[in-house]
Amino acid sequence: MKHALILAGHGSHISPETGGLVWRYVDRLRQTGVVDEVTAAFWKEPPSFAQAIETISAPQVTIVPLFTSRGFFTQRVIPGEMGLTGELTIRNGKEIRYAAPLHDHPLLAGIVRARIESALVSYGLPPDRTDVAIIGHSTRRHPQSRLATEAQVARLKSVGIPAWAVYLEDSPTIAEIYDMTVAPNLIAVPFFVAAGMHTTIDIPRQLGLQSGDREGTVHGRRVVYTPPVGVDDDLQEVILGLASEAGAHLNPVAYSDVDDLWRGFPTAGRDDLIAAVQQAGVLNFGGLTLSLNEVRVASGELELETLDHPAALRRRVRENPFRSLPTGRDLPAGWRVRIERPEWLHAIVETVYPGAVASWAAARRGALTISSLSSTARRQVGMFRPLENLTGEVQRGIVARVCGGCFALPLWAGARVADGPACPEPCNHWMSAALESIE
Ligand code: SF4
Repeated sequence: MKHALILAGHGSHISPETGGLVWRYVDRLRQTGVVDEVTAAFWKEPPSFAQAIETISAPQVTIVPLFTSRGFFTQRVIPGEMGLTGELTIRNGKEIRYAAPLHDHPLLAGIVRARIESALVSYGLPPDRTDVAIIGHSTRRHPQSRLATEAQVARLKSVGIPAWAVYLEDSPTIAEIYDMTVAPNLIAVPFFVAAGMHTTIDIPRQLGLQSGDREGTVHGRRVVYTPPVGVDDDLQEVILGLASEAGAHLNPVAYSDVDDLWRGFPTAGRDDLIAAVQQAGVLNFGGLTLSLNEVRVASGELELETLDHPAALRRRVRENPFRSLPTGRDLPAGWRVRIERPEWLHAIVETVYPGAVASWAAARRGALTISSLSSTARRQVGMFRPLENLTGEVQRGIVARVCGGCFALPLWAGARVADGPACPEPCNHWMSAALESIE
C-alpha cells in the first residue's frame, strides 16, 4: 500500500525562506524513498492546507506540522483547513494521520543546546557571565502556544543554564529581556523553524539589533543572536520520528536508482497530464509549454537555460525575485527542463505550479470540489471570517484585479474549465487582498 508525507508549514507572502525551508526538506525526503509521495502544504502559499491532500494518490497520508509549538495553527487552522477530526481521520478512502508538531522532540532540545554552546565558543562568552533568551512566537489567542518555549527554558534551567522565555506576540516581550536579566552577555535563540521575516527582521528589531547582525551591544550588554532551530540537517530525523510516532509506515529501503531526481512527487492527475500531452503533442499549461521532450518557458532569447534539478527549477521560478503566488503571470522565462521519462513532465509542472495538476485533472473529470468565497470564509477560524459577507460586486472587482494577474482560472468565481491551472477556491493572496480592501 502506498504512503505519503505532507510537511505543513506557515509560508509567507514576503520571505522565500519560510516556505523554502519546508521545500528543502520535501526535496530531501523525496530522494530518500522513505514514502512514495511527499509534498508541502502552507497557509500563505500554494499548495494550501486544504488543497495538498487532493494532490496525493496514496491511501495512507501522514501530515507533519513544521511548527515549534502546539498552538493556534497546529490545533485550529491546520485541522480546520484539512478537515482533520483528530490524530486519525478516515476520509474518501484515505487514512490521514496527524503527527505532533516539533515542539517537544528531544532532538529539538539538543539543537537549542547546540546553538547556545556554539555561541559561547564562537564569541568567547564565559558561561557564568552569560544569560540566555529563548524567543517564542506565542499568541494571546491561544494560551497553549507558549508552553513549548517554556518547556525549552525549563530544560535549560534543569542543567544549570540561566534561561528566560520571551515572545514575539505575547508577554514578556522580547525587549523586556533586558529588564529580566543582568549578565553582561546575552545569547538570544529564536525558537522558530525557518529564517523568515520574523527571525530576520522582527526579532532583531525588538532585540535592538540591526537586521542581519549576529552580534551587537544593546543597553551596554553584548548580545549574540543565533540562527533559528529549524535550519539544521538533523530536523529531517525529527520529521521522520514524528511521522513514525503518528503511525506512518516508513520504508527503510532507500532508492537504488540515484539518477532519478524527479521522484517522490504527489501523483494525483499525473497520468491525465501525460495523456493530454501525448494527445496534443504540445500543450500550453499556464505559462508553460509542455511536450514529451521538455517543459519550457521561452523568451526572446536564442539560448534557453537548461535546468536539471527540482531545487534549481524552484529557485529559478520562485526565489529571485520571490514569487509567493506560483501561478502569477510574472513567471520567469528563458529556461527549459529536458524530459527523460514521461513522469518527469508532471513533476516539473508540480514544481512550478504546486498542486495545480491535481485540480486541473479533477476539473476535467468534473470531480473538482469548488468552494465559494462564503463557504471558504466560513471554514476559516481566524481573520478571514468577515469576508463571508462580501457583496458580489466587491468580489468581482477583486477577482478582476487579483486573478487577472494569475494563470489559474478562478472556477470558484464562475470561470469555465480550460487547459491550465484550475482554482477551486479563493487563495490566501485573494483573501488578503480582499481583507485589505474592506479595512
Ligand atoms: S484566487 Fe485568483 S489569484 Fe488566487 S490562485 Fe485563484 S485565480 Fe489565482
